[in-house]
Amino acid sequence: MPEKNLEALFLHSLKDLYFAEQQIAKAMPAMIGAAESQELRSAFETHARETQEQLRRLEEVFDILGEKPQGVPCEGILGILKEAEGIMKAFAGGEAFEAALIAAAQSIEHYEIARYGTLRAWAKQLGLPDVAEILEESLDEEADTDEILTEIAEEAINQESV
Ligand code: FE
Ligand code: FE
Ligand code: FE
Repeated sequence: MPEKNLEALFLHSLKDLYFAEQQIAKAMPAMIGAAESQELRSAFETHARETQEQLRRLEEVFDILGEKPQGVPCEGILGILKEAEGIMKAFAGGEAFEAALIAAAQSIEHYEIARYGTLRAWAKQLGLPDVAEILEESLDEEADTDEILTEIAEEAINQESV
């Protein structure tokens, strides 16, 4: 019978997040292409580069655990990305298109923040402080991105969307 302890849960969730980051990396070029304002495009471009580094960090964590990098389908991110695609289509060409784009991006960041936060806590509990630190680097990037997106929305995009 497979283990059902915290270590097994950590590994399962790591695989889930690895899959999620791969899906996000795939979705980012379309989001960059869809951004109309220079500020938003450059925020997305920066985060696309960070996402590649985050994938590398997850591979480093697998390596520390003696596991090979592997994903398991994350229904959460698939749903969030599907919703993002839908809202982008629905508001294409409209005044509020970029507001919709930012909202979609922030829902992705919030999912990631939840996951990295949980995995960091579990890594600490499992006596893996080095792993916790690696995960925290990515957690900080997700949180910074979320904040930057809020600023871009509140300082410009929301007013232009009316
Ligand atoms: Fe990420
Ligand atoms: Fe998931
Ligand atoms: Fe992110």
